[in-house]
Order: sequence, then C-alpha cells, then structure tokens
Amino acid sequence: MATIALRNLVKSYGKTDVIHGINLDIADGEFVVFVGPSGCGKSTTLRMIAGLEEVSGGEILIGDQVVNELDPKRRNIAMVFQNYAIYPHMTVRQNIAFGLYTSPLSREQKDARVTEAATMLGLTPLLDRRPAALSGGQRQRVAIGRAMVRDPAAFLFDEPLSNLDAQLRAQMRIEIKRLHQRLGTTIVYVTHDQVEAMTMADRIVVMRDGHILQSGTPTEIYDAP
Ligand code: ADP
Ligand code: ADP
Repeated sequence: MATIALRNLVKSYGKTDVIHGINLDIADGEFVVFVGPSGCGKSTTLRMIAGLEEVSGGEILIGDQVVNELDPKRRNIAMVFQNYAIYPHMTVRQNIAFGLYTSPLSREQKDARVTEAATMLGLTPLLDRRPAALSGGQRQRVAIGRAMVRDPAAFLFDEPLSNLDAQLRAQMRIEIKRLHQRLGTTIVYVTHDQVEAMTMADRIVVMRDGHILQSGTPTEIYDAP
C-alpha cells in the first residue's frame, strides 16, 4: 500500500501549461476520485502518476520515494483503462496472467494469483473464454483482474466505466467499491460522472483548467449549502 503525494506538479505541452502546479496528499488506502469537465487535466495527472507522461515541473512521491524519473514498471502501481486494453486472441485466464508476464513469481504462484483474482471478480466460470464472448462488464473485470494480480500498492482507474451501459455501470460501481474495501489498496480514480464520485470516493478532488478547485468528502462537495 502507498501514500501518493503531488508537489507543485506541472505539465506543459510546448508552451501551454495544462497542469498548473497542483498539490495533493493521498493517504494510504484512500479512495480518491478526480472529477471535472473534459479537458481539465484529470487524465494527464493520472498518467503522470502512472509514469506514462513526463512531469514538466514539481514532484510525484509514492511512499517516500520521488518517482519522477522512475520507470512505470517499477512504480508498483497498476492502471485500469476505459477501453479495457485486453487482448482478443487470449483467454480470460491468459489476459489476467498477462499482468504477471515479467514477474519473477513461480508458475504455481502465478496460477494461484490468477485463481484468487478470478474468484474475487466472479470470473472463474469464464476463465477459458475469449473476450469476444464476454459482456462489457465482464471485460472490464478482466482488465481489473490483470491489474490485481500484480498486487500493486495503488490502482489508477481512468474512466473505467464510461463504455458500459447504465445498469452495468451501477453494478461495477458497487464491485469496485467492494474490491477496495477488501483489498484496502490506495485508489486514484478519474471520471466525469458525479454519481461515480459520490458513491465511491472517500475524497473527491474537483479539477478545473489544470487546477484543483476543491477537495473534500462527497458530503462536503455535493451537500454543501
Ligand atoms: P481530462 O482527462 O480532464 O479530460 P486531459 O488530461 O486529457 O483532460 O487533458 C488536459 C488538457 O491537456 C486538454 O486541454 C488536452 O487537450 C491537453 N492535452 C492532453 N494530452 C495532450 C497532448 N499529448 N498534447 C497536447 N495537449 C494535450
Ligand atoms: P481523455 O480525456 O479521456 O484522455 P482524450 O480524447 O482527451 O481522452 O485523449 C485521448 C488521447 O489523446 C490521450 O492519450 C491524450 O493524451 C491525447 N490528447 C488529448 N488532447 C490532445 C491534444 N490536444 N493533442 C494531442 N494529443 C492529445
């Protein structure tokens, strides 16, 4: 598990600043949801934490380590994307196991992790199927399973439910929340959906134009007089 800290974090593309020096402390085990309109910088911030985008200024700390220059693979965090990023030619089992592709674990240990993730996500009966035979929600669970088997210190979710219909979204909100309660892993979750933020977050961070506008519990953010 891990704390994550953003210190004066800046991102520029050419001469344009899109993240203007944000500061944030995320506690160990906290479920933090970034909300805000399209283009406000949520995804860029998440991608910098993941190491998929370079930092233009400031620092990102995971635990007590500055990770600005650290390879994404060595940050011990796992990212779940909206488009699942699962492989059509692989079975569910192979897709989940792919999270451990470069891991030094033994074959038995890897199998045990895959079995455990599949059980928690209700994917056991589907392990030998290919993604084409799955529903959207099942595919998203496979993507979560592939992140879970890495036993990461934190999960980063980028709009993971935006390709699902309303009913599946509602179900997956509950499942991801339950997963967090069971694993206790730090989660940073990006969405433009207020319902997701309200129902899932320990703390909501509201972004606008590359700034943090507000940060607080769902009650503080949405029920304020
Ligand atoms: P959000 O996730 O909140 O929708 P993004 O983080 O994707 O917002 O984008 C923040 C801003 O950065 C937007 O104005 C977007 O156009 C810009 N941006 C994102 N990626 C790039 C890029 N590779 N090159 C130039 N501008 C980018
Ligand atoms: P999202 O906001 O959900 O990330 P976008 O459509 O804004 O979706 O971005 C999709 C991809 O395009 C991202 O990888 C982002 O970095 C990149 N991107 C976004 N805006 C720009 C931009 N203005 N110029 C170049 N690339 C961009």
